[in-house]
Amino acid sequence: MDGVLNEATNKVHKHELGETDFRTYCGAASHVSHDSLRLISVERATRESSASRCSQCFGDADGP
Ligand SMILES: [Zn+2]
Repeated sequence: MDGVLNEATNKVHKHELGETDFRTYCGAASHVSHDSLRLISVERATRESSASRCSQCFGDADGP
């Protein structure tokens, strides 16, 4: 699954399908500098960067 990693907050969001820009389901990234954003698979982001998943995008709240 494609995700958008916000490196400033180390949080990964769900990438909105069909969007080429850094658009996320929750819209949290719309005001974030693109320098801090990276397109990455959600699995990779959580495994390699130990990023936390956005609860709004994924509908769950992963524990810390
Ligand atoms: Zn989100």
